[in-house]
Amino acid sequence: MEHYRYIVIGGGMAGHAAVQAILEQDSQGTILVIGDEPFAPYRRPPLSKALWKGERLEDIWLSVGSEDDRLNFHLGSRVQNINVDEKRVEVADGATWQFEKLLLVTGGRPRVLAGSRKRVFYPGHLTEHVRLHKHLGDEPRDVLVVGGGFIGSEMAAVLSERGHQVKWLMMEDRPFARMFPESLGNHLASAYREHGVEIHTRVGVTRFDEAAAGVLAVMDNGRSIAAELAVVGAGFEPNVELAQKAGLMSAGPGVPVNEFGQTVHPNIYAAGDVAVSAVDLHLMMHEDHALSQGRAVGTNMAGGRAAYTERSFFYSDLYHWGYEAVGDLNTRHRVVEDWVVPGDEGVLYYLEGDRLVGVLNWNVWDGVPTARALLEMPRRWTDEELRGQIRNG
Ligand SMILES: Cc1cc2nc3c(=O)[nH]c(=O)nc-3n(C[C@H](O)[C@H](O)[C@H](O)COP(=O)(O)OP(=O)(O)OC[C@H]3O[C@@H](n4cnc5c(N)ncnc54)[C@H](O)[C@@H]3O)c2cc1C
Repeated sequence: MEHYRYIVIGGGMAGHAAVQAILEQDSQGTILVIGDEPFAPYRRPPLSKALWKGERLEDIWLSVGSEDDRLNFHLGSRVQNINVDEKRVEVADGATWQFEKLLLVTGGRPRVLAGSRKRVFYPGHLTEHVRLHKHLGDEPRDVLVVGGGFIGSEMAAVLSERGHQVKWLMMEDRPFARMFPESLGNHLASAYREHGVEIHTRVGVTRFDEAAAGVLAVMDNGRSIAAELAVVGAGFEPNVELAQKAGLMSAGPGVPVNEFGQTVHPNIYAAGDVAVSAVDLHLMMHEDHALSQGRAVGTNMAGGRAAYTERSFFYSDLYHWGYEAVGDLNTRHRVVEDWVVPGDEGVLYYLEGDRLVGVLNWNVWDGVPTARALLEMPRRWTDEELRGQIRNG
């Protein structure tokens, strides 16, 4: 049985960051990355943004140090079992390797709705992106987009920009209802409509049926909508089954880790979308978190002691807007809106009482460090004191 000092399960973004850190820290250790996608690591966010706006597929690959003979990849193969006591991992085809230290970076998968998958697409992995791209072809299509959150909003924007006729369904009464205040949500909805998007609110899809024209979405109001194809953003679920089998889980939604990324088993680590740290206490499914935590955990696996306590940020791009956000953006909080140009450039401050808990920089750039610093201050804020704290330079 082959032996590696480090085995990484999952060839995604957190795994890539961890591997880079290990290579820098440990000049001797051998590394095996086992990934179930048939690809070397790539940047996932372009799948619902830049790849539809002209970025080339060949530009999404992350450099993997393939010239380094300490690093091996076993791709297109799913890990089925971790034997914690014997420090072994087994993949579906029966191959087995031994590790000294193991990293679980299995990420998440799109939540799949009931019924047909034939003309229904779930952005999440490159294979699915290629399948959707092929089905869309060059003709304008009649497309149903389901979900009023991150993936739904991004796909509705890029597909309408590409000339497709988009019908956008969401359970809430406006886009991002749980994250953006009514003013911003309604402003967004108007912009989508100006791009020809037909928005249907307060409806959930219960299942998809195959139909002559493509697909039929059956809704919880008893009606149905037909389209040539449907693209669904109904949330992500962490891939925790391996950790569950290996006894690494407790009651929470992800694999619990301490600030060094260690699970209950000190030689087994987790990071990225699948992990829940003692600092965040909930799943943080976004890029900056995956890269920063992945890097810190890789350093620790190679003998370092890098506590990961940073507040990560998340971002998105919609039409001519981009945003970056830190902290807890939830509309149950009071929101102080500090617009320079209403709906187009400004900062939103989320407060619990007079304590700052979240910051949204809307078409405002390089404001994340200031947002983090404001959130760290153990102080109370008045609305007036917050206004003007972050501006475009
Ligand atoms: C379409 C899309 C758009 C996004 N856009 C943004 C954005 O705009 N901003 C932002 O901040 N974040 C965005 N994200 C989130 C960001 O990409 C993720 O947070 C990040 O990729 C998480 O990294 P990870 O390594 O934890 O998981 P992933 O990158 O998902 O990698 C996990 C890998 O593990 C593999 N795997 C799972 N189980 C096994 C197994 N048993 N054996 C072997 N391999 C396994 C998976 O197939 C996958 O390849 C987006 C995500 C998607 C899907």
